Amino acid sequence: MKAEPTSKFIKVRCPKCKNEQITFGKAAKVVHCLVCGKTLVEPTGGKSKVKARILEVLE
Ligand SMILES: [Zn+2]
Repeated sequence: MKAEPTSKFIKVRCPKCKNEQITFGKAAKVVHCLVCGKTLVEPTGGKSKVKARILEVLE
């Protein structure tokens, strides 16, 4: 099995308001920025499409 960076908790930065928040990389539903509401992570059939900048992948 290949390790995928989106299978863990990730710290992302909102491209719009620069808010940083931690989310599960393999989100089952859309993750919005807690500050401005922008879509940061979108689920796409098992994998997630991360639209924000990933700052850190947490173990
Ligand atoms: Zn934001």
